[in-house]
Amino acid sequence: MPRALNQSIPTTDGGDLEPATCVANPEFTAETPRLAAMTSKALELLQNDKGFVLQVESASPDKADHQADACGLIGEVGQLDEAVQAVQDWVEKTGEETLIVATADHAHTAQITYENQNTAGRVTQLTTVEGSTMAVNFATSKTNEDEDALGGQQHTGAQLRVAASGPGAANLTGQIDQTDLFFASLNALGIDPVNHNLTFENKMQPVEETTDENTAAGSSVDSPALIATLAIAGIAGLISLIALLAPFAVDRALGPIAKF
Ligand SMILES: [Zn+2]
Repeated sequence: MPRALNQSIPTTDGGDLEPATCVANPEFTAETPRLAAMTSKALELLQNDKGFVLQVESASPDKADHQADACGLIGEVGQLDEAVQAVQDWVEKTGEETLIVATADHAHTAQITYENQNTAGRVTQLTTVEGSTMAVNFATSKTNEDEDALGGQQHTGAQLRVAASGPGAANLTGQIDQTDLFFASLNALGIDPVNHNLTFENKMQPVEETTDENTAAGSSVDSPALIATLAIAGIAGLISLIALLAPFAVDRALGPIAKF
């Protein structure tokens, strides 16, 4: 699927170049489904009295980052922002109690560095919506040759932001394990992990069939609580980029926000 914004290509002397402005990709037409539209449709189809879990992934930021494509990356994070807003609009319209979690599954290569300065790897300089210059560095490929630098940038191990709103959001604070998001989701659905053999000790093990007895004891799938999880696949340390480039994505309405 085409990305919302045209590709930008970083260079080893990017810090010496005039900043560019990201422009719309003509291949991304009015007929191209936006992530927010697909999210709204999924919510419409899933709404029921018992609750549900929806995971929405904006996968293209990861692909753009592997290719050192700063504009592609920013455009797809913008799509994630729209998807978060679509969920928030749905919650407001329906009044459903909904835990919304926005996070990423891993960090990535893009780093915002000093403007007008070449750094290891390659640099793209962009003009932000506020009119300032922003330098974005990509330096995790094997070499700076095109075949590596424009396709072989790699994931990184930086800590990730988790932002949440709704029932149970207050549990997603400080430093947590990524797998704790699973338990936060169970909690929001009112499902007891002990009665479903989903305790910490065996959370990485296959789930065994539950008996009628413990299902009855532990299940509360009638819980009205709903969960919408928005996951970004592999964006470049990019939750912080969201805050910079699309601050409304996380600050507009995400109630209690875990900041760390
Ligand atoms: Zn990846």
